[in-house]
Amino acid sequence: MSAFDYDLFVIGAGSGGVRAARIAANHGARVAVAEEYRVGGTCVIRGCVPKKLMVYAGRFHGDFEDAAGFGWDVRSASFDWSTLIANKDKEIDRLEKAYRANLERSKVTILPERATLLDAHTVKLASGKTIRADRILIATGAWPHLPDMTGAELGITSNEAFHLKTLPGAIAIVGGGFIALEFAGIFNGLGSKVTVAYRGEQILRGFDDDLRNDLADAMRRRGVDIHTMCAPVAIEKAGDKLALTLTNGERVIVDHVMLATGRTPNTANLGLDKAGVKIGANGEIIVDAASRTNVANIYAVGDVTDRVALTPVAIREGHAFADSVFGGKPWTVGYDNIPMAVFSEPEVGSVGMSEADARRMYGDAVDIYKARFRPMKYTLSGRDERMMMKLVVDQKTQKLLGCHVLGPDAGEIVQMAAIAMQMGATKADFDRTMALHPSAAEELVTMRDKWVPPKAV
Ligand code: FAD
Repeated sequence: MSAFDYDLFVIGAGSGGVRAARIAANHGARVAVAEEYRVGGTCVIRGCVPKKLMVYAGRFHGDFEDAAGFGWDVRSASFDWSTLIANKDKEIDRLEKAYRANLERSKVTILPERATLLDAHTVKLASGKTIRADRILIATGAWPHLPDMTGAELGITSNEAFHLKTLPGAIAIVGGGFIALEFAGIFNGLGSKVTVAYRGEQILRGFDDDLRNDLADAMRRRGVDIHTMCAPVAIEKAGDKLALTLTNGERVIVDHVMLATGRTPNTANLGLDKAGVKIGANGEIIVDAASRTNVANIYAVGDVTDRVALTPVAIREGHAFADSVFGGKPWTVGYDNIPMAVFSEPEVGSVGMSEADARRMYGDAVDIYKARFRPMKYTLSGRDERMMMKLVVDQKTQKLLGCHVLGPDAGEIVQMAAIAMQMGATKADFDRTMALHPSAAEELVTMRDKWVPPKAV
C-alpha cells in the first residue's frame, strides 16, 4: 500500500493542469485534480474561447460594410447581445463537459473545490478533507490585476465582460495589451462607442513597432478612440453611468470601464509558505526548466509561473512535466518562435524577434523586408485599410528572425510561418517557395527588396 492517497495531486483544472493530469494518468499514475470554479480554466471558460467567439460576432459589422461593394444590401442587419451571450455560454458548457469527460476517461478524480497546501505532501480541500500525494502540481493560473486608483472597484475585468446583461452603449478600456485591444475590437464591432486609455507611448508593448503603429492607426480609422500616454485617475458614478477621468484631463462618460491592466499569478493564500515553495517579486512560482519548484516533489506550470502566459505554452509545460515525471520520457519545453495572435480588428500575427529586438542583438546586421498593400477584398469594398507584412532576417546567416503580419487572417498566416522558422528557414527558402495566388500570404514569399530606412534630413 502506498503512503499516499494519490501519486499526483493537481491544483487547478485549466490548460496546464488538465493536460498534465490526463497524461500522468495515461502513464499509470493515480491522479486527482481540484478545481474551484469550472473545469477548463481561463482559456475555455473566460479567455481564448469565449473571446474568439465574440471576436467573430464583432467582425460581422465590417463584413456587412464590405459586402456593399460586392452588390449586397444588408442595411437591415441588427444585432442581439443576449443571443450571442446565450449561444456562447452554451458552447462553453459543451466544452466544459468535454474536458470533464476526457479527464474521467483517463480515470482522473475531479474534486470540485478549492485546494491549498498544508505541507509538501498534504493538500487541504475547502470541505476540510486532507489528501496526501507523492507529487503536487500547481496550475492555478493568473487573475486580473486592478490598478491602484480611486473607484477601481466600479470597473469590470475581462471576467465580467463575458457576462454583461446588455451591450454597453459606451465603454472605456484601460490598458494597451492584447486583452484590452481584442475587447476594443469586439465592442466597437458590435456597435459600442469605445475609448482605450493606455499609459505607454504606443499600444501592444513588446510587439514590432510597425505592427503597433499600423494597428493603432487602423483601429482609430475603425472608430476606436485610443489615448496613449494617458493613465486613468479615477472612476466615479455619474448618475446611472460611470465617469472615467484620465491624466490628460478628459472625463469620459461610459456604461462600463473595463480594466485590462495585466494579470497576476494566482498564488495568494495557497499555502505555499507552509510547503516552503519560493515565489518571485510578482507572486509567480519560481521553477526550473523542468517546471520543478525549490521543493523537490512540487512542480508548477502555466500562468502561475509567469513564463509565457499563453494556453499552448501551459499545455506543453503540463505535458512535458507528466511525460518526464510519470512516463520515463524526460523533455523540456522550447520557448523559441512562439507564434502569437492578437484578435483585434484588424488582426495581428507575430512570431520571433521584432526589428528593435533584432537590432539590439545584431546591430546593423539585420535585413528588413516590408510590404504594405490593400488586401484584394478591400478593392471592391472600398475599405481604406492596408495590410502589413514584415520579415526580419539575420544578415549573416540569412535565417528568418521574425515574421510580423497585420490584417485579415494574420494569426493563421503566422502559425504556418512559425513552422518554417522553427525549421531554421532562410530568406532564400522563402524566396524559392512558390507563391499561392491570389492570396495575401504570397507577399511573404515575393518580397525581394530590402527595406531601406528613410534618410534623416
Ligand atoms: P488557467 O487556465 O487559468 O487555469 C487555472 C485554474 O485553476 C482555474 O480554473 C482556477 O479556477 C483554478 N484554481 C485556481 N486556484 C485554485 C485553487 N486553490 N484550488 C482549485 N482550483 C484553483 N491564451 C492564448 O494562447 N490565446 C488566446 O487567445 C488567449 N486569450 C485570452 C483571453 C483572455 C480574456 C484571457 C484572460 C486569457 C487569454 N489567454 C489566451 C491566456 C490563457 O487563457 C492562459 O495562458 C491559460 O489559460 C493558462 O493556463 P493555466 O493552466 O496556467 O491556468
